[in-house]
Amino acid sequence: MSKRVAVIGGGAAGATLVSELLARRTPRPLHLDWYTGSAHPFARGVAYGTSSERHLLNVRAAAMGLSAAKPQGFLDYAQGIDAKVAGADFLPRRLYGDYVESEVRRAIDDARLRGHVVNLVPVAVDAVVPDAGGVDIFVGEASSRVDRAVLCVGSLPPRQIPGVDPAAIAHGNYVVDPWSYLAGAQESDEPREVMLIGMGLTAVDVLLDLASLWPNARFTAISRHGHTPEVHPVKAAAPADSGAELVEEMREEPAARAWMQHIREAAGQGEDWRPVIDSLRPHTQALWHELPMEERARFLRHARWAWERARHRMPPQVAASVDALEHNGRLTRMRGRLRHVTLRPDGRLDVDLHLIDGADGMRVADLVVQTVGLNTDVQRGDHPLLRQLCDNGHVRADVLGLGLDADTTFGVLDAAGNTSTHLFAMGTLLRGLLWETTAMPEIRQQARLLADRLIS
Ligand SMILES: Cc1cc2nc3c(=O)[nH]c(=O)nc-3n(C[C@H](O)[C@H](O)[C@H](O)COP(=O)(O)OP(=O)(O)OC[C@H]3O[C@@H](n4cnc5c(N)ncnc54)[C@H](O)[C@@H]3O)c2cc1C
Repeated sequence: MSKRVAVIGGGAAGATLVSELLARRTPRPLHLDWYTGSAHPFARGVAYGTSSERHLLNVRAAAMGLSAAKPQGFLDYAQGIDAKVAGADFLPRRLYGDYVESEVRRAIDDARLRGHVVNLVPVAVDAVVPDAGGVDIFVGEASSRVDRAVLCVGSLPPRQIPGVDPAAIAHGNYVVDPWSYLAGAQESDEPREVMLIGMGLTAVDVLLDLASLWPNARFTAISRHGHTPEVHPVKAAAPADSGAELVEEMREEPAARAWMQHIREAAGQGEDWRPVIDSLRPHTQALWHELPMEERARFLRHARWAWERARHRMPPQVAASVDALEHNGRLTRMRGRLRHVTLRPDGRLDVDLHLIDGADGMRVADLVVQTVGLNTDVQRGDHPLLRQLCDNGHVRADVLGLGLDADTTFGVLDAAGNTSTHLFAMGTLLRGLLWETTAMPEIRQQARLLADRLIS
């Protein structure tokens, strides 16, 4: 009998896993049901579903291949379109979406010719029920039984931060989900005051798009540190060394404070700190695994934002656009946090800020966009499928609230702590287990390991 596998999630992680599975030589044909959530965008998800040419990859082209066996795959694809593309370039995410879609469609066509059954199901799964022998998948009234299923549902829908007047959200000028807002934003030359809550890569995308669509808009961005993300160097620098010495020092002293000290020292020794951070990337998951739980919590409390800023960097041309906006007086950055947002009778927003460096105070904005990063809090999130899985005890949140609890085989843990041998997860929701798990270089490794496991 053929093995039946369900992949749940139609973003880049689902596409990577489907491609890996279908590339395997199996003794019997595979029966694969791929639930993509919706028909569009196919195989792109939030990150690569954008049509904006301003939205660039934050990883160089040479490292963005879909398959762990062919990390240069995306570069080959891009050079097939434009021979001048170099491996060090930061290319549009839209182009990457084209690449992922073409790769997975080709994998599916080839697999069908080899006798595999591949069903594309463009709907969201409502419920998943694993048991000792397999997994039942429910969509509306229909159900199907598979041997193994993998959750590739990305992060959860953004959650509104506290202090926001529901009337402001209902009015449409407090935006909780920046991606759907950007998808519908229209050109306008009206003057507007826009406030961004958060200053990571999402804020940068929103800023550049809205600044271009609205040439007379001015922007204020607020975050607890007041900094934009760090910038990649123009030229790709190879890591200074393999990072072996630094990793060894970190292994000997698995404590958040000591780690930050070792990293600071190593970074201070060279001309550029970035190769030091990059040299840690292949070791980050193993290091995280060795860090005791209370030290992981300490790292999240004290070092998370510094790490994210140094690790998830902007391409230089994106940084130059942000600098130009600041230089021209269209962008102001602030350190602090949002206290309250209320809707005024004139339809604008009163924004009450707690500022770290200056006087607290009220600002008036036409639009406030929440750009606070990924939501992976499955316990409090309102993703219907994860809600069902949590409520029925088939999965549980990891203790740090970073996603789903899973073991090193990516099998999810149920409420009692038992590892499922039939239900797995990959991608962003495994941050508690792996910490570094959201970007394609990590996702393709997981896809390779999972494909082996699912077929074994
Ligand atoms: C703006 C942005 C830019 C990024 N840039 C880069 C980059 O340059 N380089 C890099 O390596 N990484 C980047 N990343 C990281 C990115 O998270 C990964 O590269 C990758 O896109 C994650 O894909 P995913 O499939 O896990 O999640 P998603 O893209 O979120 O896709 C999840 C999918 O699951 C589907 N789904 C949800 N619920 C259900 C359900 N119940 N049933 C069926 N389907 C369901 C959704 O419809 C969606 O198709 C970026 C991320 C973001 C948000």
